[in-house]
Amino acid sequence: FDSPDVDPVQKNNIENIVKSKLSTEEKVDKILKELTLEEKVGQMTQITLDVITKGENVFVSDEPLTLDQKLLEEAIKKYKIGSVLNTANNRARTPEKWNEVITQIQKLAMKEIGVPVLYGVDAIHGTTYTAGATFFPQQIGMAATWNPDLNKQGCAVTAYETRASSIPWDFSPVLDMGRNPAWPRIWETYGEDVYLTSQMGIAAVDGYEGVNNDLSDETKVAACIKHFIGYGSEKSGKDRTPSYLPEVELREHYMPSYKAAIDAGAHTIMINSGIINGTPVHASYKLLTELLKEELGFKGLVVTDWADIENLHNRDKVADTHKEAVKQSINAGIDMSMVPYNFKFADYLIELVQEGEVPMSRIDDAVRRILTVKMELGLFEKPAPKVKEYPDFGSEKHEKIAYNAASESITLLKNNKDILPLKEGTKLLVTGPNANSMRTLNGGWTYSWQGEKVEEFAKDYNTILEAVENKFGKENVKFAAGVEYNHEGQYYEEKNIDIDAAVKAAEGTDVILLCLGENTYTETPGNLHDLYISQNQRKLAEALAKTGKPVVLVLNEGRPRLISQFESEMTAVVHTYLPGNFGGDALADILSGEVNPSGKLPYSYPMYPNSLGTYDHKPSEASEKMEGMYDYNSSLPLQYAFGHGLSYTTFDYSDITISKSDIGPDEQFTVKVKVKNTGNRAGKEVVQLYSKDLYASITPDNKRLRRFEKINLEAGESQEVVFTLKARDLAFVDADLNWTVEKGEFRFMIDDQSVSLNVSETKKFDKLSN
Ligand code: BGC
Repeated sequence: FDSPDVDPVQKNNIENIVKSKLSTEEKVDKILKELTLEEKVGQMTQITLDVITKGENVFVSDEPLTLDQKLLEEAIKKYKIGSVLNTANNRARTPEKWNEVITQIQKLAMKEIGVPVLYGVDAIHGTTYTAGATFFPQQIGMAATWNPDLNKQGCAVTAYETRASSIPWDFSPVLDMGRNPAWPRIWETYGEDVYLTSQMGIAAVDGYEGVNNDLSDETKVAACIKHFIGYGSEKSGKDRTPSYLPEVELREHYMPSYKAAIDAGAHTIMINSGIINGTPVHASYKLLTELLKEELGFKGLVVTDWADIENLHNRDKVADTHKEAVKQSINAGIDMSMVPYNFKFADYLIELVQEGEVPMSRIDDAVRRILTVKMELGLFEKPAPKVKEYPDFGSEKHEKIAYNAASESITLLKNNKDILPLKEGTKLLVTGPNANSMRTLNGGWTYSWQGEKVEEFAKDYNTILEAVENKFGKENVKFAAGVEYNHEGQYYEEKNIDIDAAVKAAEGTDVILLCLGENTYTETPGNLHDLYISQNQRKLAEALAKTGKPVVLVLNEGRPRLISQFESEMTAVVHTYLPGNFGGDALADILSGEVNPSGKLPYSYPMYPNSLGTYDHKPSEASEKMEGMYDYNSSLPLQYAFGHGLSYTTFDYSDITISKSDIGPDEQFTVKVKVKNTGNRAGKEVVQLYSKDLYASITPDNKRLRRFEKINLEAGESQEVVFTLKARDLAFVDADLNWTVEKGEFRFMIDDQSVSLNVSETKKFDKLSN
């Protein structure tokens, strides 16, 4: 397929400005002067265009794709819109068809406005809506690799494949914190720790935009970090419900990941749909202008989340009319409105400017930010690159990276009697609702929003069952689902419950591979009343355990569903998270021992619904015993601790040292430790350095992850791992909202090793330090 290039800029003045030798800033200023108020407001409007294939449920059809001409013309000719997102009915298309659609849009935009449209999609673990794209583990799995470089490689592949679909803007990564295990978007996060999230976020921005953030490179996309700020802290754990977040907590545990990604140069940001302490973030001048644009110095484009301006009126009740909602949000600092289905936003905003309710300077600031991103992406010169320029789309090279990520993410939580790896010739029963499904391996945002179309597109990949059959021989593998998901209903509905059949099928086998978890969901449809794994799945587990055969439990789920009622009856437990199209193969390679597992939990796996907590917050039952100990979780009943994950080999830690025992607040120091692989095979280990502030002016966090490094050691091999820190890495947000390092004793812990440091003097850093 070789689509014709879109004609270059049609409007003479804009064309000349684009071709001139001026800087991007000067060009943007000049183009701004060419635009009418209607055109400026159009730039701030993002809609979704209905794309019609033949028949409602046709996903990739051979029929030529045509855009809804009427809507397209209204959008571009009348409203001069500046941005389009996603696909109608969330349909996946081939890259060629994407190019066809976008070429059509750009031709009209260039002719009518002279400014190209910025097309954005949620390519969150691969290019969501493109058939044939490479799919990676979802973010929670990428976090479990504790390997930022692998995350960077994965995001670079996604950038390439998204660009190959003519789409230059990606609503990713999510830098919200996964600190409430019930939240249905926890799998879209990098877990509960803000340092791990920051490191993964920097890697994601580097992968999407390139380390120099040079968006004129046509294999890169503009990243959109989301959803600023405090999303995921909902009290109820249900999506888009109110949260109450003290500013100390917001700054200490929710802000650093955004600061890190902004410092890494991320070009765009999306806003939290929620309400914090009674104020919807979309209407908060304090959070959007004072914190984001002024204090954090964010120079890029600020886009709303889905319909969230209208929501200020309809849902959040802080604006008594839709027009008032437009006023509040634009004056608060929003640059672009994800409308997405009508043009009322544009009509109201024009009126508001004419009435003097929204200053022209605010409009110009917003449009300047939008034009800058378009200019830097090179869209004025090349609004829809040719598909044939992307030979690596969906290539084996890309798929290998996705496989590596899946195999480094899978986390071995328990391995009694060293049942794993399984011996050659083991006869297996594979069972459970997640055993034979590509859909559950991928989760949401895969070919469609809720992931409901995965089976259709991922036929060429292996489910867990298929991968296990390939690895252990079909003759050694039996299958009985026991429980199935009802794909016609809600994500949690189950059907065809036949536990007896599964128990019967276990006869004559040596080991049961029980694949439990969740069906796919995304956002509010995934809200949950009960964190325990479903009753049917629990019954299946208990019945299979009664056979007396060893049960290896595979948890294929997007959040830690509780298993405490039967965990003790399971011989081994493996957490796959949502590992993507290569998750089945990666799991089979771990079960057979071909791959040594190296994933570590990026969240605390709870044991009971009323004992939820994160590793860093002070547990309720602090005791002397836990002082300076690595395993604080002894006081909070947890199924598995944050950072936990087993290997088929063993690692021994020794000889921890610190370069200084006393430092001033501006000094640097190193902590060293020796790690030895004491087992008989090679393995990867994540060396995790935690610090603990013994006393502080506000109760200090129990401990905090400060550094980590994933290393690879041959059997018998040792390595010294060196971490370099500054005293200000130990700072916390004090009662006056300053980052402060206070004098006194700190302890550093790596595995069972610990060492102390004295900070000689208190220092308050400016608000942004750290
Ligand atoms: C989600 C965002 C997403 C947007 C566009 C919203 O519902 O919260 O994460 O980027 O839709 O699809």
